[in-house]
Amino acid sequence: WDMFVLAFVERLFRPTYKKDDFVLGKKLGEGAFGVVYKVSLAKKPSSKEGDLVLKKATEYGAVEIWMNERVRRACANSCADFVYGFLESSSKKGAEYWLIWRFEGESTLADLIQSKEFPYNVESMILGEVQDLPKGLERENKIIQTILRQLLFALDGLHSTGIVHRDIKPQNVIFSEGSRTFKIIDLGAATDLRVGINYIPKEFLLDPRYAAPEQYIMSTQTPSAPSAPVAAALSPVLWQLNLPDRFDIYSTGLILLQMAFPSFRSDSGLIQFNRQLKRCDYDLVAWRKSVEPRANADLRKGFELLDLDGGNGWELLTSMVRYKARQRTSAKAALAHPYFDKEGLLALSIMQ
Ligand code: ADP
Ligand code: MG
Repeated sequence: WDMFVLAFVERLFRPTYKKDDFVLGKKLGEGAFGVVYKVSLAKKPSSKEGDLVLKKATEYGAVEIWMNERVRRACANSCADFVYGFLESSSKKGAEYWLIWRFEGESTLADLIQSKEFPYNVESMILGEVQDLPKGLERENKIIQTILRQLLFALDGLHSTGIVHRDIKPQNVIFSEGSRTFKIIDLGAATDLRVGINYIPKEFLLDPRYAAPEQYIMSTQTPSAPSAPVAAALSPVLWQLNLPDRFDIYSTGLILLQMAFPSFRSDSGLIQFNRQLKRCDYDLVAWRKSVEPRANADLRKGFELLDLDGGNGWELLTSMVRYKARQRTSAKAALAHPYFDKEGLLALSIMQ
């Protein structure tokens, strides 16, 4: 009851919007299931609202609204700040779901890792200043550590809430200029196993570049969608049995790989890596043995970075990118990994 009343009161005091309230700005993205725009409010309310983001979504928008509402109550800091979602039925194209978020900032992690300056371009964004330190692997490692820690922190929030994102990739990680941290966006493929929402995986939604080798997140032996109450009772058990959160961990491991190795930051580079890893039966250690002897400077640099501090980075990477989901680490366990022992960027700036 308390939860219900709280949710209701919170809902009452949150602004509600309709179609005509928005002035469309720049298009930010377009996928198979919706179009995303930067928007502003036609009539600025007295309180400064700032820019917003609008996603016009197809039928899957209903699930995405549900996921965002759940996130804002359970783990608000993990994801972009959700404002409001509604069914917009007056559109010519038929019913659409409109989803509104606060505009978090200009850059996704995908934009940032494509820059030749990476990871130094991120350092100044997180710290709000440029550090007067010599460039080098140690410093790059600290920045990458900080990004990964923020991403794992956000992911741990989602997973502790029972949500598996299923589309973790740099394009879906946004830098929030307000909080100077990375947040997760795009819950369009997410699933909430604890209440059976979106229980049957829409596997066609998965991005093959970042998807773990298991096709289905739940084992194929799990019976098809049970009724919601049955699913609610079963799902903590199923979660334990199948560890569906480890799907996101694999994708996150690939992001660490891309941050460490410049040559895998491009689409073609990542696809090439995936092909090599598959040929090694998804055994990262075997992959390293096969490529290291004839490694170019970029590749050597990545290994060197991950080998710092006794190879903590490499150890963490191999505990995330594994064929078997149950052998992968969890987000919570990863955060306790010795890779993060020494404080990251902030310590570096205090030390000087
Ligand atoms: P999809 O991938 O389904 O098209 P996303 O939710 O990933 O939709 O949004 C598309 C793009 O819009 C993102 O890659 C990002 O560049 C931008 N974007 C989405 N949400 C926000 C936000 N809250 N703040 C700033 N930019 C955003
Ligand atoms: Mg996206």
